[in-house]
Formats: sequence, C-alpha cells, structure tokens
Amino acid sequence: MAAARLAQSSSDMAPGLDYDAIIVGAGMSGLYQLYRLRELGMKVRVFEAATGVGGTWYWNRYPGARFDSESYSYGYSFSKHLLEEWEWSEHFAGQPETLRYLNYVADKFDLRRDIQFSSRVTAASNEEETRSWRITLEDGSCFTARFLITAIGPLSTPTLPRIEGRDSFEGKSFHTARWPKKPVDFVGQRVAVIGTGATGVQTIQTIAKDVGHLTVFQRTPNWCAPLHNGRIDAETQKRIKAGYPEMFARCQETFACFIHTPDPRGAFEVSDEEREAFYEKLYGERGFGIWQGNFRDILIDRKANATISDFVARKIRERVKDPKVAEKLIPRNHGFGTRRLPLETFYYEVYNQDNVELVDLGETPIERITPDGIRTTARAYQFDIIIFATGFDAITGAFDNIDFRGTGGVRLKDKWKSGPQTYLGLMVDGFPNMMMLMGPHTALGNIPRSIEYSVDWVTGLIGFARRSGLTRLEATTAGVEAWTEHVKALGAGLLSNEVDSWMTGINRNVEGKEKRIVARYSGSAPAYRARCDEVAAGGYSELKLA
Ligand code: NAP
Repeated sequence: MAAARLAQSSSDMAPGLDYDAIIVGAGMSGLYQLYRLRELGMKVRVFEAATGVGGTWYWNRYPGARFDSESYSYGYSFSKHLLEEWEWSEHFAGQPETLRYLNYVADKFDLRRDIQFSSRVTAASNEEETRSWRITLEDGSCFTARFLITAIGPLSTPTLPRIEGRDSFEGKSFHTARWPKKPVDFVGQRVAVIGTGATGVQTIQTIAKDVGHLTVFQRTPNWCAPLHNGRIDAETQKRIKAGYPEMFARCQETFACFIHTPDPRGAFEVSDEEREAFYEKLYGERGFGIWQGNFRDILIDRKANATISDFVARKIRERVKDPKVAEKLIPRNHGFGTRRLPLETFYYEVYNQDNVELVDLGETPIERITPDGIRTTARAYQFDIIIFATGFDAITGAFDNIDFRGTGGVRLKDKWKSGPQTYLGLMVDGFPNMMMLMGPHTALGNIPRSIEYSVDWVTGLIGFARRSGLTRLEATTAGVEAWTEHVKALGAGLLSNEVDSWMTGINRNVEGKEKRIVARYSGSAPAYRARCDEVAAGGYSELKLA
C-alpha cells in the first residue's frame, strides 16, 4: 500500500500504468466522464468501438430516429456556454441533429484527442498487485489504468430474432441499431418490419410514405401516444434559453428527471368527466406528459390504469379505420405505460394506407425467413428489404459482451448469473476500482440527467481517492447485498415489473434471458441521488478503501 501511495503522490499515476483511468464508450456518459476526469488532471483514455462519438446516437440511424424527451431537457446541463451556443431546431430532435450535437460537444471541449476509435474492448481484468485494470481490445492490444469506468450504455447490444432461416434472406436486411450511414432507398420497395417497440414505431411511421408496400409483423402491440413535435421558433428559443436553470432544477425534482410531474390526484378522486377531460388534454400535449404527468396512481393501481388504457384504446379505434386492424393494435397483456411508452406521429394512420398490412404474429406466427421473404403459418410474403426493429439485450447485455474479471479471476457474468448485483448501481464487490455509468440498478429515466449525476458522483469518488492517497476502492459485499435487495423491494407493486419487456430483463432472442429479473432501479431519481449523496457525505466510508 505504501508504494502505491508514494506513486500516487509523486506522479499522480502508478509507474508502469498506461493511464489513470480508462473509459469504455464515447457516448453521452463517456464524453462527459472524460471531461470531468480531465478537470482532475488525470491522464484518461476512452476506447470506443465506433468510428465516431455519440453511442446510441451514432448507431441508431434508422429512419425517423429521434428523441422522445424534450430536446432541451435532454442536452448536457454542465456548461453554460454550451447551453447558450447550441440551438435545438425541434422540440424532439432527430438523430442527425443529436449526433451533430454530440460531435459539437466533442469538438468544443477538445475531447477527441483522448478517444481511440474503432477499438472494441473485449476483456477487462483486475490486477490485484498493481491495483489496476488491464483491458484488451479486439485486435489483441492491451492497456492498463488505475480506474476502469464503463460507459457502455443500457441499450447498446442489438439482438436479432431467433427465427429459422434468418440468414438465408437474399434481399437487404438491417437491424435498426446497425443502420448504414448511407440512406436506404425505400421507393417502390416491398419492406417488412419485425418489431413494434419505440424503434419500430418510429421506423414504420417514417418509411410508410416512401415504400412500395409495407408489412408490419407485430408480436405484441404497444400502447403509444402522440409526440406532437414541432419546430422551435426564435421566440420560444429565447424562452428556453432563459429558462434553463429552472427547467434543469425541475428535472432534478421529478420522479424520472423528465420535465413532467405526476398529478397529485388519484384517477378516481375526480369525476368521470374530469378524468376524461384530463386524459384528452394530456393526449393533446407534447411528449411524455401522458405517461409521467398523469394521475399519480395509473402505474401502480390496476383499476386506475384501466381507465387510461381504455381511453387510449378508444383513440386507437378512432384513428384506425378498419376495426379489425384497430383491435390488433390494442395491447391486451399489459396496461398503458407499463412498458416504455413509444411516442408517435401519425403511427396509427399508417394502417389506413392501402399499401400497409399488419400481421398479428399471435394469430399467424412466423415459421421461417426464406431467401425471398418471410413465411408465416398463413402464407409466404416476398420482400426486398427486411428491417429488424427487434430491440436490445438490455442493461446487462453490454456487460456480458466484455469478459470482465474481478479479483481472483471471478467473471462478472457468473456473478450476475441470476441477475445483477451492485452497490448503488455504480460498483460491484470483487471488482475494485471499476465504476459503472448507466449500468444495472441505477436510476435511468431521462438519461442525460442521470448520466450527469452518476458521472459527477464517480468523479467525486475518484477525486477523493486521489486527494487521500487511496488506490483501491471497492464496494463491500454487505453493501451490494443491501442495495440489490433495496432495488428489488422498490420494484414490488409496480405494474411495469409484472410485464415482460427489456425493462424486466426479458429478451427471448438471447439464451438465458427468458426470465424476469430486477435490472432497473425503479425508485425516484431524487431518492437515488439522496442515497448516493449520503455515501459521499460520509466520506465513502461504506466502501472498502485502501
Ligand atoms: P423493444 O422495445 O425491445 O422492442 C422490440 C420489438 O421487437 C418488440 O415489439 C418485440 O416484440 C419485437 N420482437 C423481438 N423479437 C421478436 C421476434 N423474434 N419475433 C417477432 N417480434 C420480435 O426495442 P426498441 O423498440 O428498440 O426500443 C428499446 C428502447 O430503446 C425503448 O423502450 C426506449 O427506451 C429506447 N428508444 C428510445 C427512443 C427515443 O428516445 N426516441 C427511440 C427508440 C428506442 P415483443 O414485445 O413481443 O417482445
């Protein structure tokens, strides 16, 4: 320990190590973490698999990809200059604009010089002797650092459906999260979309106007609500900029860091007419208000939830002309908002087009993908393009892809075999000096808000270690057990935890992910921050420090 302390105080970096810290991933979390660690005077290297910055916004270039939380509430809040300079053009910016934004951030803060692109990390092992981490890249090269910070994203490992014959298709096929940089021409094409989550919905509503014919293969319908996007005029732009401090302060107070706050009333504390009028108002408003700003009990009380589900079902019936199609689009196995709500722009009207067909896989499952299309139990379809909007191996998938080895060579994948175990969603016992950003058991919500908090917390911890001459930081087993139990307990009673979705760890396209797990912190963001703040204020004494 003495040697390690000496090294720390003389050069800020242990001899023989390549960096003070390695960050895996140059998305929103990785970029901000790099910025913050540089402020501590640390030598930092970011390894990024892509050829550019942006993470989610680099990879998800599918047609129609855009925010569904308000652009201004999504951007970074840490730099006044950045807030003054950057102007979002729409209330919910499209992917190209968001990617431009993240490139702008990388340039403005000169971040690229510490990022190594086209560098996929395949393994990371803890070296007890030197209190460090050694990471290995796909090309076999290795690098060492005192601290390892994962910024690998909760929705970054795309999964293709396990359908027989998938690779036999001779037309073009794309997963939405591996979309080519060159735009795909849909004009006159026969196109299939498999998947109707937030991504599928955005893709379908966007390409429907261009395709020759579109066939949507839907396994489970999702409840969707209107996005009501619009351009931001000069007057509104001024108001947004002037209102940033209040808006970010508000995001800190809300349950999931969105700008919407739940209505304090219960759904049955108002008359039927008032309830209907309130739902009508929310349905006509921008963004997630209908989900995050609804009656306080719609996501916990089955009867309250049924009232909003019934309202939205009626909207679907009004908007879709063919009653049979409308019924297929109405979810039956989960209530409104119990899965992540896709926000849409004339999505339902797409099904009124003559050249669009909805195939309900509950009635006619896919038998196989063929060289020229898709065969269901009812018939064979021919396609030029198949789009897989089939989602992600969420939250733990990106961790499973890297061979993380803690002390004694313990594999993280083995440790998390029956579900993740973490301390504050930030650390794991047996994996000293490793911190996770947006890993399991952290508050996600409006992600950049959560990212900024977690990055600041990690920076605070590392800064404390450096000031105190500490070179080994580890969560205790008791701390991990307590947090994991706490996260599980928080999930009890939430309707969303009784539903299959990526939020409950289900992905039947991945072996071993067929059972629900508690992968997500489902308490409030303020409560999460209060607990993490408490740990910091207590001098991190809950950790094993050396
Ligand atoms: P997703 O919500 O997991 O949806 C995947 C879809 O593919 C589901 O409809 C699923 O059906 C279907 N599917 C998967 N395997 C299938 C198979 N073998 N056969 C038939 N259908 C299959 O994934 P996503 O739409 O990519 O969205 C994931 C998350 O990303 C969202 O919830 C959201 O948090 C985020 N996102 C955000 C934005 C935004 O901010 N604007 C946009 C897009 C996505 P089942 O439901 O039956 O499993």
